[in-house]
Amino acid sequence: MQELHNMSLQGLALAIKNRAVSARETSEHFLARAKAHASLKPALNPLQTADNLTSQTTSCGAFVSFNEEFTLNLADQSDQRVSKGQARPLEGVPIAHKDIFVTRDFPTTAGSKMLEGYCSPFDATVVSLLQQEGMINLGKLNCDEFAMGSSNENSAWGPVKNPWDVSRVAGGSSGGSAAAVALRLCPAATGTDTGGSIRQPASFCGVTGIKPTYGRASRYGMIAYASSLDQAGPLAQSAEDCALLLSAMCGPDLDRDSTSLDVPKEDFSRHLNDSIQGLRIGIPKEFFSDGLHADVRTCIDLALDEFKALGARLVPIELPKTELSIPVYYILAPAEASSNLSRFDGVKFGFRAKDYKDLDDLYRKTRTQGFGEEVKKRIMIGTYVLSHGYYDAYYLQAQKIRRMISNDFQEAFKTCDVIAGPVTPQVAWKMGEQIDDPVANYLADIFTLPASLAGLPAMSMPCGFGASSMPVGLQMIGNYFQESKLLNAAHQFQLSTDWHQKALRGAT
Ligand code: GLN
Repeated sequence: MQELHNMSLQGLALAIKNRAVSARETSEHFLARAKAHASLKPALNPLQTADNLTSQTTSCGAFVSFNEEFTLNLADQSDQRVSKGQARPLEGVPIAHKDIFVTRDFPTTAGSKMLEGYCSPFDATVVSLLQQEGMINLGKLNCDEFAMGSSNENSAWGPVKNPWDVSRVAGGSSGGSAAAVALRLCPAATGTDTGGSIRQPASFCGVTGIKPTYGRASRYGMIAYASSLDQAGPLAQSAEDCALLLSAMCGPDLDRDSTSLDVPKEDFSRHLNDSIQGLRIGIPKEFFSDGLHADVRTCIDLALDEFKALGARLVPIELPKTELSIPVYYILAPAEASSNLSRFDGVKFGFRAKDYKDLDDLYRKTRTQGFGEEVKKRIMIGTYVLSHGYYDAYYLQAQKIRRMISNDFQEAFKTCDVIAGPVTPQVAWKMGEQIDDPVANYLADIFTLPASLAGLPAMSMPCGFGASSMPVGLQMIGNYFQESKLLNAAHQFQLSTDWHQKALRGAT
């Protein structure tokens, strides 16, 4: 049998179902791998809230907490189901969750000191759905504080290092999820994408990730950053694995999430093996502008050649407002964040400053000490653009341009079925390189923001190696509800290339 950590989700589920390996052995195997990457850093050890909870930052910084007793208990329950012939589709297969999803049996911090010691009384919908599918929760994964960032250097628990070169960033904000999958510390992970946080770290770490159409995955129990943009999605070794996970994660949750779409659950694996002969792939000229580094461009061009060889047709298209997506996003996302984060005041959740004079002082000190620099910056920007006199000039204008960006996509989809291009202009940069340069950080989001602003499904798949042998991802964007078309194209690409498997080099 193949090593457990190199197996596909379906392979693992089958091995457990056929009792070639037990669910307990599987969880133990992955826990051992995850912990082998652990080096306890007491200074970064925020999460001791209950006796049975251990918390640590792994040497790559991917995991922030484990609850071994809980995990193995779940695995034992899976083994009992298997022995009774009641195995569910992904029975006994481990998964780890971005620490932005609340979980009953693990602490949840969203990468912030503000939520130090916080344990939710319930599981996020996405977490319960995956558990109902039979999956075992292996632990929680590091992320940028409140999902704000592109490098995972904004976590209060330390950065996530890129498995391919530990002097480089893993990408953000779902950096822990991407690094853990790349290192095969877990077979799959959840992430969230507000402006690229699934696609960008997936691209930087050489794994596959997808965000669905806005509203398809419930936001219930996902700590809010920018509610009109936040979407959950999976990161895994392949498009095939992502399809299985996404099918489980999506579905209406109308009573608990007001933006959940009333669209029935879908089996995103159904069309994986369809031919892509005649598929029209739109190539936006704005995604191939001067800012795109030559090494990334070469990989993307070769990937597009591969698609042509598979029978797809490349169609030139235009997305003329691409550049505006940066100012638009960095007005709207902070505006929503400033409102969402007002709930963290030292009264209801997690952290509370110690010495305060009165209620105002409690609020001020708690927020000053609890939030990191990036979060404070965004709260200030957001408060500013929403304030009287500036609302019309910034927030309202941004909303109008957001609509134009969506309209441009609809125009483009008149002549193509999917859109392809780079995920980022460059490969993962060195740690610390952009930490004091917010503008450079924000510019790096240019190719992921448009699909987020339009609420479109989009994914990243490994398609080669660029400068310094770092992974490069190909982005594919679909029209609303066309997730299966994206996954179909990605799966066909992965059947005829092995970039997604080459990522295994990082797992040694
Ligand atoms: N990099 C973007 C930001 O910092 C996107 C983050 C995300 O998608 N959560 O906001």
